[in-house]
Amino acid sequence: MSRSRYHKSATLAQYRDWRQIATVSCNLCRGKRHYLPADLIELLGDMETEHLERRMRCEACDRNDYLHVRFWSPIAGDDYPITIRRLERVETIRRPVWRDERRG
Ligand SMILES: [Zn+2]
Repeated sequence: MSRSRYHKSATLAQYRDWRQIATVSCNLCRGKRHYLPADLIELLGDMETEHLERRMRCEACDRNDYLHVRFWSPIAGDDYPITIRRLERVETIRRPVWRDERRG
């Protein structure tokens, strides 16, 4: 099995253990953001990364059909500056669900 094929079916937890970074690019608005696999696990649960694009959204244009995710290892001691987008918190939105109740 080639390395690229192995990578395709790897899970977020494996990328976390390999200390890799997830770079999510949007080909619609050309935005690019870097995430830690550990944060993605907290948000989405551990999963195979093959379908990760469908579970995420571009924070700029709110679409996911143009997303591309790739994982890579920052080289130790590399001073190439990148900004990692960390998960601050997950907010639960309260949304009312109403039903009609007939009287009489
Ligand atoms: Zn976008």
